[in-house]
Amino acid sequence: MGDYDKREKLKEFYLKIRGCQECELSRSRTKFVFGSGSAYAPVMFVGEAPGKNEDLQGLPFVGQAGKLLDELLGSIGFDRSEVFIANVLKCRPPGNRDPRIEEINTCKSYLLEQIKIIDPKIICTLGKISTQLLLNTDKGINTLRGKVFKVDSRIIMPINHPAAVLYTPSRMEILKQDFQKIKRLIDSDGEVPVCEEDILNLESETTGDKQNKGEQLGLF
Ligand code: URA
Repeated sequence: MGDYDKREKLKEFYLKIRGCQECELSRSRTKFVFGSGSAYAPVMFVGEAPGKNEDLQGLPFVGQAGKLLDELLGSIGFDRSEVFIANVLKCRPPGNRDPRIEEINTCKSYLLEQIKIIDPKIICTLGKISTQLLLNTDKGINTLRGKVFKVDSRIIMPINHPAAVLYTPSRMEILKQDFQKIKRLIDSDGEVPVCEEDILNLESETTGDKQNKGEQLGLF
């Protein structure tokens, strides 16, 4: 798909789904939060669900966690307009409760279509919900963060959610280091040099894993 087509397709898709009423979150939301950034982004960041500020503004990661995400992007020379930021859920769960499994199942096709249109080389999953969804695993984020997985010729790298790090500042250094790793991945254009003895099968990394074709590349 050409770049022009990507932008048009993404816009078309937004217009198609912005009035979604597929689950009850549509009744409590203020705004549908599609995601924002470049349709040509080499890297996509995927969070969990809009919070209060995101629901009011219709944009992802505009609260405190978003401020931290902007700073971390800045630390590797990126502005948020150069990447694409989205969430698993497009509408805010009331009171910021955890997304329900049926909400994730209803909404996930929207995220998958965004990924298909943008076709980023690298997807960085922020926290447990997006990581478990895109890696099709039930392993915890602390086991998976900082590791690099190759799934269907795309790189997926889970990191801690910025909001979680705001609650646990001792994790900040790890998050900063993970961003440096993201930069190395972007600089290598997603072409990660594979070192045979470092390849682990995702299935041996994850329990209860369902038909996952991904490999983990422990490279850095
Ligand atoms: N947390 C998320 O997961 N997504 C947002 O957009 C904001 C906070």
